[in-house]
Amino acid sequence: GFGDAFNDIFEDFFGGQRGGTRAERGNDLQYNLDLTFEEAVYGKEAKLKIPRWEVCGDCKGTGAKSAASVKTCPSCKGAGQMRFQQGFFSITRPCGQCEGTGRIVTEPCPACQGRQRTYRERTIAVHIPAGIESGMRLRLSNEGEHGLNGGPPGDLYVAITVKPHAIFQRQGHDILCDVPIQFVTAVLGGKIEVPTLKGNTVIKIPAGTQQDKILRIKGLGIPSLKNNGTGDQLFVIKIQIPTKLTARQKELLQEFAKESGMSMEEDSDGFFDKMKTFFE
Ligand SMILES: [Zn+2]
Ligand SMILES: [Zn+2]
Repeated sequence: GFGDAFNDIFEDFFGGQRGGTRAERGNDLQYNLDLTFEEAVYGKEAKLKIPRWEVCGDCKGTGAKSAASVKTCPSCKGAGQMRFQQGFFSITRPCGQCEGTGRIVTEPCPACQGRQRTYRERTIAVHIPAGIESGMRLRLSNEGEHGLNGGPPGDLYVAITVKPHAIFQRQGHDILCDVPIQFVTAVLGGKIEVPTLKGNTVIKIPAGTQQDKILRIKGLGIPSLKNNGTGDQLFVIKIQIPTKLTARQKELLQEFAKESGMSMEEDSDGFFDKMKTFFE
């Protein structure tokens, strides 16, 4: 009703809080989990050590040694708040003697020193789904810290960082890998051994393969978190140009050039001649 709203305004204004025992939700926790590239692709059952505040098992969260050591606060008679008359207004403030709880603990629980909770580390099993990516957070409801005065627990967030792989890179659900091949293989075609997450395999290089051509093995990529789909393993062809030639190799290539109708002057300016013609 109107009266309650009116009280709320004044409680806010004077920085007061509601009397009685206030249930407080436990804090959320975040755990930063590093995964290898393989773990992110295939998922894993992780065992995480999580320290957190938990409801004290000895006093069940009352903070008192026994039921007999909890007394109703004599100042506020258990209401947790005091009412004052100030001018025209009636103002409520939390009771100072019991700090708004309405009760006095005469003998605190020895296990938690009356704090209601104890700090404990426990190990929990967390299922990391296959296909998870860096920057994603898993939320585990109610696995955060326990609340106070019967308040609900917080949540546990597991923040994922995937460590970079030496040769593989993620691109959506595909796995990219650069594959160097000899220029002769690119021209004539051939077979080469390539790595995949499931071990080495052999792929065919078609004759006339160009730089940065992508060769694909279907289904050897990363599983989707949303459906049953799986990406592909992609190989990006990087053609290696030899930097040292024997006299014989040079001779053979020059012969190849002659056969192709190329002029082999050392400082060929054929390209610039063509450009000149283009702009004239
Ligand atoms: Zn206790
Ligand atoms: Zn009191």
